[in-house]
Amino acid sequence: MKHKNYINNEWLDAKSGSTFDVENPFTEEIIAQVPLSGAVDVDTAVQAAKSAWKEWKMLGSLDMRDLLREVAVKSRANERQLAEVITHESGKPLIECLDEIEWIASIFEYYSEIGRDQRGRVVAPVTPRSMSMVVKEAYGVVGCIVPWNYPLLLMAWKVAPAMAAGNTVVVKPSEVTPLSIMLWLEMCCNHLPKGILNMVTGYGETGAALVEHPDTRVIAFTGSVDTGKKIASMAATQLKKTSLELGGNDPIIICDDVDIEIAAKGTAWGGLLNGGQVCTSLERVFVMETVADSFTEAVVEEAKKVRLGDPMNGKTDMGPMSSKMQLEKAEGKVERALVEGARLLCGGDRPNQFEKGYFYNPTVFDNVTSNMEMMNVETFGPIIPIQRVKDLEEAIELANNSQYGLGCNIYTNDMEKALTAADDIKAGSFWINDPLTDNEAAPFGGMKMSGGGRELGIEGLDEFREPKHILIDYQIREKDYWFPYDLDEGRKT
Ligand code: NAD
Repeated sequence: MKHKNYINNEWLDAKSGSTFDVENPFTEEIIAQVPLSGAVDVDTAVQAAKSAWKEWKMLGSLDMRDLLREVAVKSRANERQLAEVITHESGKPLIECLDEIEWIASIFEYYSEIGRDQRGRVVAPVTPRSMSMVVKEAYGVVGCIVPWNYPLLLMAWKVAPAMAAGNTVVVKPSEVTPLSIMLWLEMCCNHLPKGILNMVTGYGETGAALVEHPDTRVIAFTGSVDTGKKIASMAATQLKKTSLELGGNDPIIICDDVDIEIAAKGTAWGGLLNGGQVCTSLERVFVMETVADSFTEAVVEEAKKVRLGDPMNGKTDMGPMSSKMQLEKAEGKVERALVEGARLLCGGDRPNQFEKGYFYNPTVFDNVTSNMEMMNVETFGPIIPIQRVKDLEEAIELANNSQYGLGCNIYTNDMEKALTAADDIKAGSFWINDPLTDNEAAPFGGMKMSGGGRELGIEGLDEFREPKHILIDYQIREKDYWFPYDLDEGRKT
């Protein structure tokens, strides 16, 4: 695999000659050194994308469809190799990484089709023998800045619709997980015309250079709220469009009318999947008092059953945390929760059976109150805090008592409760009895501090196209409302 920047379909070192290390969080070994790109490299990539745009935006829709569909075919054909690289760089279990590859293939398939569907509308003209068309056109060069928890998926959520809408792209992967994108470009995108899709690697400074470059017209970003704010303020100086998918602290409400065993299994999976490092991880659990004891006991039982281990093993449920930094963040959150008075029911420490790897045990707390840090700030670790509530009204109030509005979940058989909660809780996704299930044909994104803009669905395509009104008068004639004016004769419009 090439460990370089990808610009104009060529593999290049950074102009500075500097590199940074990529670590495997299971073996704690350095597995690659990749270019530390600066503003000059970003400029080269943006210029490549800008030159390529002139032809790409004019490409016929069937050719566009075929090129994007081929990305999907090649992604599926190389799924094992791609998934293994994600596992090596992130510690995510192989089975979840294989799902990630299948998902990116379906996203490319989906946008290859809807990208050639409607491009706007025709509206009723204001004068006879004329026509008003609204055409949605591409912006130009799109900068995509991606996090490490789903490195290929969250890249595809941006790149596929951006390209399908007729833009060209420069991607900046996370410094933690640049390798899977490199392999994917090498194996699945080598048929694309030169300069359509480019990549530069580096830390936040490289991302900032992409945001500040005058020729990137849209910045599509997924990451933390803090970085999102920085990007929004940098982009504002050029009035540049941003699409921001940021953090969350998602609630789940457990009503007293459900199968507690299933609700507990769903909660444990939704809280611990990928070590709790999912933007929509279940991070605040509100359970009704009458079922709180049995539910909490069942969640603890499920958490204790989770099999930690080598993420390449097909029977591992949870691998190591993706980096030492994420491990330390989880440790810090647990320490502070204990000081704040939460009661630890399981976990809260590192497993002792591994000599290496940034492992942390699945952790469950109860005696949780809404003023505690973990109920207010994104946790992003394998930590499930359970808070008791007396009824749905209190659960809705607590769910809304948050700066975030990414996703929300409920378990109930009572549709009145489910849809009342869906009406009253501010969240971009609302899952009833099925935590965390997305659909590429439906929009995904956050309300409140969880972001602005949407990915997936037709809404995800519209993030990357801007409307233009084209008025055609197909009978050239002098208009009676032109000069010379004469108010005595009356106004004519
Ligand atoms: P992060 O904000 O630290 O980094 C994300 C990306 O931004 C990386 O590529 C990083 O190099 C880059 N970056 C950092 N500083 C920058 C700057 N000043 N200018 C431009 N780019 C910069 O986030 P992370 O730790 O990689 O990812 C975890 C976060 O992502 C969590 O908060 C999680 O909730 C969020 N997330 C959100 C979604 C969503 O769809 N809403 C999905 C996944 C993850």
